[in-house]
Amino acid sequence: MVVGDIATGTDVLVIGAGPGGYVAAIRAAQQGLDTTLVERDAYGGTCLNYGCIPSKALITGSDLAHEAGHAEEMGIHADPVVDMSQLRDWKDGVVDQLTGGVEKLCKANGVNLVEGTARFKDENAVRIAHGGEGQGSETIEFEHCIIATGSRVIQIPGFEFEDEHVWSSRDALAADSIPDRLVVVGGGYIGMELSTTFAKLGSDVTVVEMLDDILPGYESDVARVVRQRAEDLGIDMHFGEGASSWREEDDGIIVTTELEGGDENEYRADKVLVAVGREPVADTMELENAGIETNERGFIEVDDFRRTEAENIYAVGDVVADTPMLAHVASKEGIVAAEHIAGEPVAFDSQAVPAAVFTDPEIGTVGMTEEEAEEAGFTPVVGQMPFRASGRALTTGHANGFVRIVADEDSGFVLGAQIVGPEASELVAEVALAIEMGATLEDIASTIHTHPTLAEAVMEAAENALGQAIHTLNR
Ligand SMILES: Cc1cc2nc3c(=O)[nH]c(=O)nc-3n(C[C@H](O)[C@H](O)[C@H](O)COP(=O)(O)OP(=O)(O)OC[C@H]3O[C@@H](n4cnc5c(N)ncnc54)[C@H](O)[C@@H]3O)c2cc1C
Repeated sequence: MVVGDIATGTDVLVIGAGPGGYVAAIRAAQQGLDTTLVERDAYGGTCLNYGCIPSKALITGSDLAHEAGHAEEMGIHADPVVDMSQLRDWKDGVVDQLTGGVEKLCKANGVNLVEGTARFKDENAVRIAHGGEGQGSETIEFEHCIIATGSRVIQIPGFEFEDEHVWSSRDALAADSIPDRLVVVGGGYIGMELSTTFAKLGSDVTVVEMLDDILPGYESDVARVVRQRAEDLGIDMHFGEGASSWREEDDGIIVTTELEGGDENEYRADKVLVAVGREPVADTMELENAGIETNERGFIEVDDFRRTEAENIYAVGDVVADTPMLAHVASKEGIVAAEHIAGEPVAFDSQAVPAAVFTDPEIGTVGMTEEEAEEAGFTPVVGQMPFRASGRALTTGHANGFVRIVADEDSGFVLGAQIVGPEASELVAEVALAIEMGATLEDIASTIHTHPTLAEAVMEAAENALGQAIHTLNR
């Protein structure tokens, strides 16, 4: 121990209070385990403070402003003015409410909260450094530990986030004014969500993407619906270009991109938002002292119970290899780890992991695509329902996209869904439940769905796969 060190002990030590860590801590405490949660920054982690929640709050604001200003067809004429600092205050209020709630929930469940940065001393102890210089440290000994240290934004050379012209997603979400011109580097889900948001708030947005389409990992017909809408919103997209540098010029900046073959393009902007992905935070904890190695990409490898190679140390969330960097995945992994420590018969099951992209329109996916089902040895049958045939979609003025359901032809078991369209993030939950419960196409098709709702499109897609659809032509 160093001078000033006080050693305490706990059954379960959780490092990081994001959706992986705080959920794990609460569940461990609910299981009767003495639980300590250490956080160096803010309760709720990336998700509540700099990710899911602030981005969705801004999306709501930008949607409202855009919708109100574009409803002439319905006889509504308005020219909304967005007060960005007030929108930011409202968003911050939502964040504060939720992060305060996390702290209260932890306390109410009996979780001991410690502020500071944890580093491993060995496989049964961490040292917590409190705050800045001279603020002291303490040692906490543990039986079990759950690492939930999350991820951080990837920087690209030449684009330093310290510079006021260069934005990370976190900077963009904290903006108190709307840039006239915004260049977004990266057409992944964070880049596209923020491009759409700022385009709707009035920025001229240009997206530059190295690959040949937006939203890598999603099927091309799904990405196409979002790309076409982004074009309609005036977002200028350039593919096969990598941002290489930027410089100040006149009253703004020039972003230079490199094309294959060495040609260059230049784009004028006021800000450049770099959204090229996130990397795990596993290199700041002195993991080697606990006998844990990261893989070649810096992630921690875990087994089905989220146990690392050190049997008493678990890892969950963005820091873990092989599962998507999503808040609900982090939380589920946290629950599995906590319950496994408590001796419950649990394991992480990745069969029905939904994912959502909050672009316009939204995307919601779960389970297998048709191609993945084929690769897995199924004979897939597919049913599709376009939203333009949905009464409810037409009454909302948003009828782009479709619901697609993939099932196994022989058994009828539902294997997956790809939904692009209004409320896709909500609609996908029905199919996730169907997969989880081993439901068949018949089960979804024979369930009476409320009319008129978007959820009827899920039922119609199932009917379509069975050759029984009423409101769309059967294949
Ligand atoms: C702009 C944006 C939008 C997003 N939108 C969505 C969305 O709509 N849906 C979705 O599912 N996901 C979304 N995500 C992803 C989501 O935020 C992450 O998947 C989620 O936060 C991961 O949770 P976690 O608990 O693993 O890590 P985090 O939320 O990153 O939390 C980790 C915590 O650990 C703390 N920590 C790190 N090291 C230490 C240490 N040594 N000692 C003490 N504390 C430490 C950090 O301060 C942090 O608070 C979004 C992310 C971004 C950036």
